Amino acid sequence: AAKARGGGVLVYDEARDGSGRHRLELITQLREGLHEHQLVLHYQPQVDLRTGRAGSVEALVRWQHPRRGLLPPVEFIPLAESAGLMGKLTAQVLEEALIQCSRWRTEGSHLQVAVNVSPSVLIDHDFPTQVEYLLSTHHLPPSALVLEVTEDLLMAHRDRAVSALTRLRKKGVQVSIDDYGTGYSSLAYLMDLPVTELKLDRAFVATMTSSARSVAIVKSTTHLAHALGLHLVAEGVEDAETLHSLRAVGCDLVQGYHLARPVPAHDVPRALVSATSA
Ligand code: C2E
Ligand code: CA
Ligand code: CA
Ligand code: CA
Repeated sequence: AAKARGGGVLVYDEARDGSGRHRLELITQLREGLHEHQLVLHYQPQVDLRTGRAGSVEALVRWQHPRRGLLPPVEFIPLAESAGLMGKLTAQVLEEALIQCSRWRTEGSHLQVAVNVSPSVLIDHDFPTQVEYLLSTHHLPPSALVLEVTEDLLMAHRDRAVSALTRLRKKGVQVSIDDYGTGYSSLAYLMDLPVTELKLDRAFVATMTSSARSVAIVKSTTHLAHALGLHLVAEGVEDAETLHSLRAVGCDLVQGYHLARPVPAHDVPRALVSATSA
């Protein structure tokens, strides 16, 4: 693209054009990648502080790129979002996570699996039907699935989000508010949203050991969750001291590098053991 700059000189904006081309190329590759099932799921255990057990895992997507290696979500989720590929991506993640969940059940391990669902996907009219179909195809009780949704969307598309979540909640699917505390919305949606869990953003958790304010926020959010009949999950637990403070404030579930990192499915049994001994 040629752009007029000061003095009427036309300057070729190489950086911008280059990144645009790169972007289009990646989108094409992602489309192919979805077609060829190049997405890979890693799972990170969550430990219940009351029982000491790791009863659930969060599924986190990666892209096994044919040349660039294993790419983290930050490198392709925004791209998929802008290219209208999130529906397809989520369908694959959901199915893979549920297949894995049902495999674990056959092996005697009754884990719950949490799947991240972006706003655009949740409000798609077909989404609840798709979830119900996958659960029944893989012979899973709906309570085996937790959908993690971020709070921003809940206000932007309130009616559609509420109706999708209400329908899934009635079936028994669990609903978690991810990155809780970071959205622009007020607490109002907690009055009528059918959620089962608040997942406090790691920004609050990571600063507990250095900030009394963070401790106060985590503590009062735990009380709020309990008063509403919900449980509180703390993510981003990176050290023993933070884990200790979380126990002290009555947090229900913990997740983070200190317990276990996200790992491929075959490493999950080992990660569960290490998480429960942290
Ligand atoms: P999130 O849902 O908030 O997931 C937690 C992120 O924190 C993950 O990064 C996880 O690997 C990382 N994490 C876990 N423990 C710790 C810790 O102790 N310290 C720190 N610093 N980080 C920790 P990841 O896997 O790179 O995922 C990033 C984001 O990408 C996720 O944030 C989620 O918003 C999105 N994402 C991942 N998988 C999916 C998916 O299947 N669908 C959608 N829509 N989004 C996804
Ligand atoms: Ca999440
Ligand atoms: Ca989160
Ligand atoms: Ca996040």
